Amino acid sequence: MARESKKARAERAGEIYELLADEYPDAHCELDFRSAFQLAVATILSAQTTDQRVNSVTPTLFNAYPDAKALASADQADVEEIIRSTGFFRNKAKSVIGFARGLMAEHAGKVPESMEDLSALPGVGRKTANVILGNAFGLAEGVVVDTHVKRLSTLLDLTREKTPEKIEQDLMELFDRDHWTMLSHLLIWHGRRVCIARRPKCEECVVSHLCPSSRV
Ligand code: SF4
Repeated sequence: MARESKKARAERAGEIYELLADEYPDAHCELDFRSAFQLAVATILSAQTTDQRVNSVTPTLFNAYPDAKALASADQADVEEIIRSTGFFRNKAKSVIGFARGLMAEHAGKVPESMEDLSALPGVGRKTANVILGNAFGLAEGVVVDTHVKRLSTLLDLTREKTPEKIEQDLMELFDRDHWTMLSHLLIWHGRRVCIARRPKCEECVVSHLCPSSRV
């Protein structure tokens, strides 16, 4: 494939964004939450599973442990039992309790609003921090790079990097800051509905004419 200039890639990225935004005007975070605390816990639970699976356990979890104070003093085995179906439940139980304890110890039980403070908490990496900042606080500090964002930005040749951190940097350069949070939602929605991992529906794809991986 001929090398694309930086400018041409940025223009193509802008067109892709507009077309996906038209296609999915309601794109949003599909985890159910009512507070930054709930979103943080749900995001930690969402590793290696679907948002639907997480949404099926969080009502029970948040009923039993409505805030950081309650979760910080939870019995790990009880939490494990509730979240078992999300997989990796022992580690996840440890992570969400550790997160709640960190909140109590460092932030009086309140979820902090900065990347630095969030990513210093147990169980929270840059991806989770980006989800919380973008969706609970409306702050664009970065782009959430999950498995869909990684796969689609590669297929669309928006990046040739391999690690989430470097992919995120490429996307941050290509897209306006006020699009960063929505960009992840759009790529995730497209990845779940059309650009499906094992059988991308290129013939139904609104950005196929802008996609170097298109099969049509
Ligand atoms: S054209 Fe095909 S590979 Fe490219 S984004 Fe669309 S569905 Fe995915």
